[in-house]
Amino acid sequence: MPGEVHVIAHPLVLHKLTLMRRKQTSTANFRRLASEISMLLAYEVTRDFPVTQDEIETPLAPMKAPMIDGKKIVFISILRAGSGILDGMLRIIPSARVGHVGLYRDPETLTAVEYYFKLPANMEDRDAIVVDPMLATGNSAAAAITRIKETNPRSVKFVCLLAAPEGIEHFHAEHPDVPIYTPAIDERLNDHGYIIPGLGDAGDRLYGTK
Ligand code: URA
Repeated sequence: MPGEVHVIAHPLVLHKLTLMRRKQTSTANFRRLASEISMLLAYEVTRDFPVTQDEIETPLAPMKAPMIDGKKIVFISILRAGSGILDGMLRIIPSARVGHVGLYRDPETLTAVEYYFKLPANMEDRDAIVVDPMLATGNSAAAAITRIKETNPRSVKFVCLLAAPEGIEHFHAEHPDVPIYTPAIDERLNDHGYIIPGLGDAGDRLYGTK
């Protein structure tokens, strides 16, 4: 399989993902868990980000100390379910910029149709972290990244909560240069493009719309 896949199988992440999968988990708990997992994924996805040495003063002495430039990071949420990841990521990197890509899945063809696209200026200076909980068919994520690449970001990574093998294959067939960060890879997709066993419809479970 071309392309990097980082499976973040940390016990804390997996425990929280199991709680999210359970059908009896409430909307409030599902949303809180998505946010908590996202904080832990933010830690992993930024692991190789560059630091600059800033001149600071501790109460005792001046020193050079490492800092990341949060303003250069842009989280891009694929609407609407991506926003369930955004909250946790922004708690870890509050100065990050935020973009939105609105795509809906045509229920007949399962292909992605764009209805909204808004990113910060000067994308060529920024590292983009694209977020969407479910990498299922991979159609929406691949289409979103094709559009995002038109703005020439310095780098692009993709973060989800769950991936299907079919989605990873499709995604990396179109974007072999974009690493995927996911806590788990499930068995397969069903005929409606849902991940099995999965966790159901992430948007509905985040927002209580079913
Ligand atoms: N989108 C979801 O919310 N869940 C799936 O299983 C697949 C796509």
